[in-house]
Amino acid sequence: MSKYICVFCDERKKSDTAHLINGKIGICRHCFENLDKTAYASPYQGTEHIAFTMSPFEYTKSMRKVILDLKFSNCKAYAKLLADMMKNYLDSYDIWDTFDYIVPVPLHKKRLKERGYNQSELIAKRSCGVFKKYLCVQICLSAQKQLKSKVHLYERNVLQMFRVHSNAQKKCDGKKILLFDDIYTTGNTAQSCARELANNGAEQICALTLAIHVQIKLPIIAY
Ligand SMILES: [Zn+2]
Repeated sequence: MSKYICVFCDERKKSDTAHLINGKIGICRHCFENLDKTAYASPYQGTEHIAFTMSPFEYTKSMRKVILDLKFSNCKAYAKLLADMMKNYLDSYDIWDTFDYIVPVPLHKKRLKERGYNQSELIAKRSCGVFKKYLCVQICLSAQKQLKSKVHLYERNVLQMFRVHSNAQKKCDGKKILLFDDIYTTGNTAQSCARELANNGAEQICALTLAIHVQIKLPIIAY
């Protein structure tokens, strides 16, 4: 096997790959085995509009580094790697057949213009390709207000942040939707999106995030 870069430890490796993308980048077996995995690879507590949520990895150490590289250093190829890792880790849970769409949480248009891409959309698109049975609704939601840095403003703004585009409203009606975001922090973003999808007729909404902040503790539910 030719050499590749493990993007989690930044070392050049010759073998021992857990996942590989394009033969050039991957995660080595050592890093994958030492990644902080959560009990939330199986469904955990939902909210008012979310039936259940899943988050297979903790947002710590090397996972944080790779997500930040993806978001802020134009490392778009990392999205494919993260999608494949997530998909493989969740494979034992037979939930994929139940969804009509996977919907990435949108970025505010100003942030999208600055960054040039939405990292959650890149991961969701790859997931659609891997699963081969989902349509990624790329513009189903649009962020209406940019997040403010102060916590009390964050709480207020995030609740009214998303709106379903008028040309996407029919796509939501009666559909089962898997909402995707890269990181679960407070749950408010997913809740805000889910409320809007529900108001536009979505039958069921579940949420999937790649990683979850370690301080979040939620009860596991039976599925
Ligand atoms: Zn490594």
